[in-house]
Amino acid sequence: MIESLWSDEEAAQHARAGELGLRVYTSRLLGRDKSLVLHGGGNTSVKVREPNLFGEDEEILYVKGSGWDLETIEAAGFSPVRLAPARRLATLPRLSDPQMVNELRASMTRASAPTPSVEAILHAVLPFKYVDHTHADAVVTVTNTPDGEARIRAIYGDSVVVIPYVMPGFDLARLCAERFPAEAGPATIGMVLMHHGIFSFGATAREAYERMIHLVGLAEEEIAKGGAWALGPFPETTTEPDPLEIARLRRDVSQAAGFPLLLAVHGDARSLAFARREDVARVSQQGPATPDHVIRTKRLPLVGRDVDAFARAYREYFDRHNAGAAAPKTMLDPAPRVILDPALGLAAAGRTAKDAAIAAEIYEHTMDVIERAERLGGWRALSSRELFDMEYWDLEQAKLAAAGKPAMFAAMFAGEVALVTGAASGIGRAAVDALLARGAAVAGLDVDPRIEALLLRRDFLGFRCDVTVEAALTAALARTVSTFGGLDLLILNAGIFPASRKIAELSLDEWDRVLRVNLDANLVLMRLAHPLLKLAPAGGRVVVIGSKNVPAPGPGAAAYSASKAALHQLARVAALEWGKDGIRVNTLHPNAVFDTGVWTGEVLASRAAAYGLTVEEYRKNNVLGVEVTSRDVAELAAELCGPRFAKTTGAWIPVDGGNERVI
Ligand SMILES: [Zn+2]
Repeated sequence: MIESLWSDEEAAQHARAGELGLRVYTSRLLGRDKSLVLHGGGNTSVKVREPNLFGEDEEILYVKGSGWDLETIEAAGFSPVRLAPARRLATLPRLSDPQMVNELRASMTRASAPTPSVEAILHAVLPFKYVDHTHADAVVTVTNTPDGEARIRAIYGDSVVVIPYVMPGFDLARLCAERFPAEAGPATIGMVLMHHGIFSFGATAREAYERMIHLVGLAEEEIAKGGAWALGPFPETTTEPDPLEIARLRRDVSQAAGFPLLLAVHGDARSLAFARREDVARVSQQGPATPDHVIRTKRLPLVGRDVDAFARAYREYFDRHNAGAAAPKTMLDPAPRVILDPALGLAAAGRTAKDAAIAAEIYEHTMDVIERAERLGGWRALSSRELFDMEYWDLEQAKLAAAGKPAMFAAMFAGEVALVTGAASGIGRAAVDALLARGAAVAGLDVDPRIEALLLRRDFLGFRCDVTVEAALTAALARTVSTFGGLDLLILNAGIFPASRKIAELSLDEWDRVLRVNLDANLVLMRLAHPLLKLAPAGGRVVVIGSKNVPAPGPGAAAYSASKAALHQLARVAALEWGKDGIRVNTLHPNAVFDTGVWTGEVLASRAAAYGLTVEEYRKNNVLGVEVTSRDVAELAAELCGPRFAKTTGAWIPVDGGNERVI
């Protein structure tokens, strides 16, 4: 149950920055509790008197700027809006969204501040210094029941003003400007917005915050009294869904969307229990817990796997409500973002790993809200018309556009999944960076245990994995698919380069060891990856990191040169066999890339000696006289997977500064 997270020590640090400092502090406390707000939800403000350039005192509303998250907000995330003109806007009979944004921006005292929250006018009209607003799970659980309003009044009495559901933005601010002064009394410390959330007020940051905790706690107690608080225990079940089933579902979702999407599967006991409810179709097919979730999760989840039926229903929903809309809207893609499936549990789709994680986290809270509301007497979400207005609200669309309109380059592989072998160092490590920079989610494999903590970010998975062990590859692919939904790009990079040895001294053991890593492991991984690459929504792509030694072998490197030559042929045959599946296979032949794991000082010295050169001469010993780095090779590998090479397969390209023996 909810508790105050206030700490005098933390507060004292923030208090040094004055009233706004404490506003930052308690906003973060609200953001820290996921049962209060999720991902950009909720907003807070403080009204401060401060002198302007002429030395006159002005009342300024510091209100959360859009695009900022309460959990991580800083002073710069609050927009300073002159209070009087903002408050006056609520007396207008109507105000369009673009006009509202324009008026608020024009009243800011810092031109570079973010656009004020869509609920800024509402904050302005509430006559309290500190105003906190959340979408607390417990409050929306109660409001979204058949007798929700009566229950809310019974819980709170005259301590809150109750406002019926109106779409957020100007209309809500205007309604509150009328209703609040008429209904508030001396005991009023908050305001409940039906089907939406709750406000609390205070003279200090702490008072407003602790009133929020108190009010939400009362709703939790009411739920507990109704026997609806404790959920579970959920039956412990383990499911190991076939990676191909997941990849097929992701392909269907991506096809419906018209672009690749990641799909993250959450087969935990809680999600499976919800997805297996007998009445899952009824309880899940109403709407979200609070309207602004609609832009992250869509109005409804898909139950089961019939993506086409979902997309048809979405088009009907759009057509039905668009016909009655004041201005015609442009339809968003009709693909689901949340999927409930009895075998998979909860699956969440997103253009990035972060988007998919946000959709999943919101739905995890939604499942609890729905189950508790059901036990309180029935779950009742808003109507599809009201949710359509929210989903197709200009300002919500703008929020998404601001967050998710990456430049062409950064979106090259958005929604796609790459797997790189030998990813802990050298070319593999650089390939991880090159693919992430282009928007892919990346799985990196390496025998080096450092791979597991290589990058701590949602769109990277590191596996300690010996590529010569088939079971290890199978397991890595299965986890990649359950985390990201499939496989689109495969970079075969892992390889070993043994110390120089003449054929006369080359043992079969050493020969076998080199071929097992450089050749056999790639055959096995290609075989395992092929059915997944076939399901890649935009076509599978494989890049093989070969070697200059293929066209121009060197003495003392028989095993290495032979392994890479065989790999080169394997890649060409794959290009022939897999073309009909839309999979492109191309090979790079780098040379003299010395910032990689295989080039120990010893190997470098012995190779230089084999050519009768110093190490320095050997480094730049090419036609252009340039050094070739891991990054040069990795960037080209990433580009080979991109649109410029969409019609190239079976190619082999040198990355070697020009080699006379190759040319
Ligand atoms: Zn809200």
